[in-house]
Amino acid sequence: MKAIRVHKFGGPEVMQIEEVPTPKPGPGQALVKIHAAGVNPADTYARTGNYAILPQLPYTPGTDGAGVVESTGDGVSKVKPGDRVYLAKNLTGSYAEYSLALESQLYRLPEKISFAQGAGVFIPYGTAYHAIVHEARTRASETILVHGASGGVGIAAIQMLRAMGSTVFGTAGTAKGLSLVEREGAHLAFDHSKPDYKDQIMKATAGRGVDVILEMLANVNLGADLKILAPYGRVIVIGSRGDVTITPRDLMARRASVRAFTLWAVTETESADLHAAIYAGLDNGTLRPVVGSELPLKDAAQAHIDVMKPSGAHGKIVLVP
Ligand code: NAP
Repeated sequence: MKAIRVHKFGGPEVMQIEEVPTPKPGPGQALVKIHAAGVNPADTYARTGNYAILPQLPYTPGTDGAGVVESTGDGVSKVKPGDRVYLAKNLTGSYAEYSLALESQLYRLPEKISFAQGAGVFIPYGTAYHAIVHEARTRASETILVHGASGGVGIAAIQMLRAMGSTVFGTAGTAKGLSLVEREGAHLAFDHSKPDYKDQIMKATAGRGVDVILEMLANVNLGADLKILAPYGRVIVIGSRGDVTITPRDLMARRASVRAFTLWAVTETESADLHAAIYAGLDNGTLRPVVGSELPLKDAAQAHIDVMKPSGAHGKIVLVP
C-alpha cells in the first residue's frame, strides 16, 4: 500500500510517500481502508519531534481518518468487513491507504456523513465536547465565546453549543471564516484580526463579559481573555503555541478560573460520553463536519504547511489516498 513515512523528525518535507507492506489485523484488531485522513495541528507538532507524545521512527502520521473495515482479526465483534467507520486513534497511522486499529478505536459513521467529513470527527468533535461538557460545564443560560471558531475544533464547538441552547459568539480572522462561523450557528461573529473586537464583545454583553471562553490560541489571547470574562467566568485552554503574561487580579476580581487539558488524557468514561454524543449528533444532523479542502495523500507536506498558516482556516483539511 501507499503510505506517508517519516524517517526523521523535521519540516514538512520529511514526509514522503512510499510503498510499504499492508498490515494484517491481529487479535482484537481491524484493518480499515482509508477513504480520507484528517490533518490536525498535533500531527505537525509530532512531526517536528518537539511534542509531549512522540511516535517511534520511522512512522506514518495521522490520528484521524474514516473509511471501510476491510478485514478483522480473531475475537473482533464490534465491527465487521464493510462497516463505515471513523478512527479515534489507530496503530499504524491514517496517512495511508490502509490503517490498522484496535476495534475499540473504531466508531460507526452514519451514512449521511461523507468519509471526508468523517476524517474530521474524532479530534475536533472529541475536543470540543470534552471542553464544553467535562471542563467548562456550560449551561444554556450562559454566553460562550469560541475564540478561534473557523477551524476544526471551533466549528465543532459552535454546532454543539448552539444545539445545547447557549448564546454562542465565535471569532475568525477572515471574511470567509466569519461567514462560516455565522452559518454554523454563532449568534455573533467577531474578527480577531481587528484591534477593537474585544470592545465589541463587551458591548454585545452589555458590559458584563462572557461566561466561558474556549481558547484556541492561549499564548496570544489569555491575558486579554481574563479582562472580558463575566463573574465566575472560565477560560478553557484548548490550544497554545508559546508563553503568555496574565494579570492574576483579573481572575481574583471575578472568581474566575483557567482550565486546560489534552484529549490524549481523557478517561474511559469521558471517552464513552464523547463518542456517544458524537454519534447522536452526526446521526440527528446537529453535527455537520465542514471540509475546508481535500488534497491527495502525496501532498501531505502541503497539508501540514496549510494547517499551520496563522490565519485562513475554513474547516478541516483532509488527505485522500
Ligand atoms: P485549525 O483548524 O487550524 O483552526 C485554527 C483556528 O485558530 C482558526 O479558527 C483560526 O481562525 C484561529 N485563530 C487564528 N488566529 C487566532 C487568534 N489570534 N485568536 C484566536 N483564534 C485564532 O485548528 P484546530 O484543529 O481547530 O485546533 C485549534 C488549536 O487547538 C490548535 O492549536 C490545536 O493544536 C489545539 N488542539 C488542542 C487539543 C487538545 O487536546 N487540547 C485538541 C485539538 C486541537 P482564522 O483562521 O479565521 O484566523
